[in-house]
Formats: sequence, structure tokens, C-alpha cells
Amino acid sequence: MEKEKQCVGLAPSRRLLGLPSYGKGRAGQAQVFRHRLGSNEAPDGPCPSAREAVEAMFADAQRYPDLRGETLSAALAKHHGVTADNIAVSAGSIVLLDQLIRAWCDRGDEVVSPWRSYEAYPIVVGVSGASLVEVPLDADHRICPDGLLRAIGPRCRVVLICNPNNPTSTEIAPDAIDGLIASIPRNILVILDEAYSDYAADAQTVAASPGIRLRRHPNLVILRTFSKAWGLAGMRIGYCVADQSIIAAIQCVAPPFPLPGPAVAAGLAALAEPNIVAARVAMNTAERTRMSEGLAAAGLPLAKSAANFIWLPVRERAEALTRHLNDAAIAVRCFAGEGVRITTGTEADTNAVLDAAARWRSFE
Ligand SMILES: *Cc1c(COP(=O)(O)O)cnc(C)c1O
Repeated sequence: MEKEKQCVGLAPSRRLLGLPSYGKGRAGQAQVFRHRLGSNEAPDGPCPSAREAVEAMFADAQRYPDLRGETLSAALAKHHGVTADNIAVSAGSIVLLDQLIRAWCDRGDEVVSPWRSYEAYPIVVGVSGASLVEVPLDADHRICPDGLLRAIGPRCRVVLICNPNNPTSTEIAPDAIDGLIASIPRNILVILDEAYSDYAADAQTVAASPGIRLRRHPNLVILRTFSKAWGLAGMRIGYCVADQSIIAAIQCVAPPFPLPGPAVAAGLAALAEPNIVAARVAMNTAERTRMSEGLAAAGLPLAKSAANFIWLPVRERAEALTRHLNDAAIAVRCFAGEGVRITTGTEADTNAVLDAAARWRSFE
């Protein structure tokens, strides 16, 4: 938050000073672009069964929903092979991250995380009064496990890892993640943000991995979301899977009625149709391959993606490339001085990106 925005004589906590604001430089909202590739959303709308479930639940909108989102937690527990007290739900996984950091950190505590990563992390950590210790990525834009372990000092309370990482799209392999978590002291909470895990492995592995990991690592929390491969970003459904003692701590800071009834209904309907996610992931893999190959052929540098977006580390050309794509009616996310992130969408979206990329080369 900037000082000028404060009201005279009325100042919020000093923790808010100097925090970055989420979504700065974002291109896809105020102006509607034909190709909305700025927010890693699914390109297709909700399935008919989710629409019907939402409408049916809305008919009861005068009633409060589940106190803790129990109906959805029970279905998610079944989906992942854990028990319902291993699950907490909220209006987006970013809210759960905020609850976890507030439940774990006091002023002066440290949260160690690879960086560049998700732009919400510095805000959530900063608001809590803790400090974010940023560990640089390696030359291939991947998380560096040794660097992360070296950065864990006596004030560290939480290690926060995004895998596959946003915005660099890279992943570390499952066994490397397990080795890393096993090397972190057990009294430190490890938060693994798996918003993009659906794109990195087959559906069965993605569903089974939280249960397997929790049995190995009791200090682990896995964050998942319905906002990406599950295609429901607008319904705001996030959840976490963790030991029941960690879930109990989250419930201490969580407000009651975390999810509206229609959101619970949409989540249940989506869980009942895993084939839709599988089809979305398959289309993503095909378009991601085509977009990656085309962008490389156009001479652009890119990271190896395991997600539904591509990272172009073009550094000082990031803003110019963003303008060039925006001029072609393509919304992307610009990280000034670092790179451009492009969501993979439909065949038509890929065509538009590759067309613009070909012209970018001649333009340079
Ligand atoms: C999109 C995203 C999320 C999901 O956030 P929601 O609040 O569940 O919509 C979480 N983490 C990362 C890294 C993301 O990119």
C-alpha cells in the first residue's frame, strides 16, 4: 500500500506500507480481449450438471450453507482417500494460505519460499507481519532445493513451495519434492501449493498423492483449487489437505460459512465428472506443445511448462512483448523486467499467439 492512498490522520497498520498490490500490470480485466490468456483460467464454461446444481442450490439462497463446507469436504476426502478432518475448504485456496500464515506466524517470523513465484505470496506474508525469505530459482527457472534448505534459519516457521511454479511453469519431480520435504525439520510447516498439479500428472496420481504424502510428512499442507483444471475460478473454491491438527488450527482463524451453497454444489458436480477435467488437461497438453514449439521457432526463450501456461523470460522486453500481444487482442500477464506469462487455451487462442509471435520476430 502506498502512503498517498491513506486518509489524513487515519492510518491502517504499518504492516501494510510498501506491500505490492495483486494484479498490478494485468491486462485482461478492464478491457475485454478476444483471447483471455492472462489469468490461467480454463477456456471452456461449466458443464450442464454444474449449472443445474448451482441453480437448484440458489433456490435455497435464504438458508445458510454448511458451517464448514462439510458436504464438499466429505466428497473431497473420498476423492483423495483421506478423512474429512484432513480437509478444509474456503473461497479460493489463496484464502486458505492467508489463514495458514495467520495461524502459524507472528511478527518477526520467517516464511521461506522460492522466488519468482506467485505474486500473492508477498502480500499474504507481509500482512501477517512475518517476512518472506526469497530463494532464487535456478538458471532453468526451477526451484532450487539446496538453496531452500540453506535459507531455513532459526526464525523460519513456514516453507512455502508452489509446484508447478507460477509464473515460471516449471515443476520439480515428485521424488525430488518428497526428498526436499523430508529434509525440512518437522517443526516447520511445509505448504505445497498445487494449483496446477492436474496438468503435471495423470488424474489417478493427482488424486492419490495428498494421502500418500501426508502419511510420509505430518508437517505438510497441500493446497488445491477448482479454479484451474476444474474450470470454476468464478465460483471461488479452494481446499487444503493436511493432518487434522493443522486443519483444526485453520478452523480457529476461519470465519464460519466459508463457501456459498451454489459453490459447494458446483464443486460436488465437478467432482462427479472427472472425465471433463481429463479432457481439459488433454487439450491443454496438446495446445501447450503446439504453443511451446511455435514460440521457440519464433525465436522466443521459454521455460519447460508442466502447467496451463507458458513463461517467456524476455526480461527488459517484457512490456514491449505484452503490448505487441495486446495489440493482437491477446491478454497476457506481464512481469516487467522479468517475463511474460501466456495461458494455454483453445486451438484458436494458440493460433492467435503464434501468429503474433511470428510478427514479433520481424518487428524486432
Ligand atoms: C491460480 C492460483 C491459485 C488459485 O487461487 P484460488 O484462490 O483458488 O483461485 C493458487 N495458487 C497459485 C500459485 C495460483 O496460480
